[in-house]
Amino acid sequence: MLYADLHSHTFASDGMQTPTDNVRIATEAGLGAIAITDHDTVAGVDEALTAGKELGILVVPGVEISTVSQGEDIHILGYWMDHHNEQFLKRLAELRSVRDQRNEMMLEQLNELGVPITMEEVRASLKASKKIDETLGRPHIADALLRKGHVATIAEAFDRYLGKDGAAYVNPPRIEPSTAIRWIKEAGGVPVLAHPGLYGQDELIEPLVECGLAGIEVYHADHTPAQEVHYLAIANKHQLIATAGSDFHGERNGIIFHSPIGSKKIDVSVVQLLLKAKQPIAGRDSLKDSEEGT
Ligand code: AMP
Ligand code: ZN
Ligand code: FE
Ligand code: FE
Repeated sequence: MLYADLHSHTFASDGMQTPTDNVRIATEAGLGAIAITDHDTVAGVDEALTAGKELGILVVPGVEISTVSQGEDIHILGYWMDHHNEQFLKRLAELRSVRDQRNEMMLEQLNELGVPITMEEVRASLKASKKIDETLGRPHIADALLRKGHVATIAEAFDRYLGKDGAAYVNPPRIEPSTAIRWIKEAGGVPVLAHPGLYGQDELIEPLVECGLAGIEVYHADHTPAQEVHYLAIANKHQLIATAGSDFHGERNGIIFHSPIGSKKIDVSVVQLLLKAKQPIAGRDSLKDSEEGT
């Protein structure tokens, strides 16, 4: 039986490996498919697709969009979009620019708290080999705090400063989950709710289904077995595609976040279900219709 891990991060956002590395690790783990789902960017997808062809493993183009609902960060995964779609790329770039402003505000907060840290130091925490246009996030700030000796672990950086209850936390003005769903659909992709067990907001799911949510990440590294049973029942109730993901970010300070590639996986046939749920891109379709009509 072949399996798919449908959630992994790379250098393109806050992962610690190249897209090629993730694809290689997935191949070594014996998987049949791996998705690249970086935060607010698809910059790693093309490299991963090339690596997938070379290594003989199916690579699913993906993204993980950060949104907010009722003050809670909600992540929407997107699969099989046209990842070169200009409007989609522009929309993701806008999200990254709001993120950059949020990052600057967090650094200001840290400085006010007597923790001197600059954006140059945060950027320096990126690996020198990193060539792709990336999403900067809190893990990069955590790295810089660790390197400068302000904290002893990444977990401490989140607990004291960067997490929701941290002293330097800034809540960015993010889009609603329904907007991310619309954007993914308009780019011809399939929207899936990431790690619902981390939100404690199940009432959020039904309205999102009405907006076109096609799947739900039932199996996630941070879900308990009871949560997996619970979300599988919700998936069945709403006829949502049940997906699985390790949410691999690679290793920081000796600790893998969230978990190794392949540690959460699902039958590879789910990839075909996602493909079947793909939305035709409106502009393209009308173009095709008019071509067929002539
Ligand atoms: P951001 O998207 O910049 O707000 O950062 C969110 C990311 O921070 C998540 O996707 C995780 O990769 C990471 N993160 C959140 N909490 C922790 C934690 N306690 N330890 C390590 N990484 C974390
Ligand atoms: Zn992350
Ligand atoms: Fe997430
Ligand atoms: Fe993730």
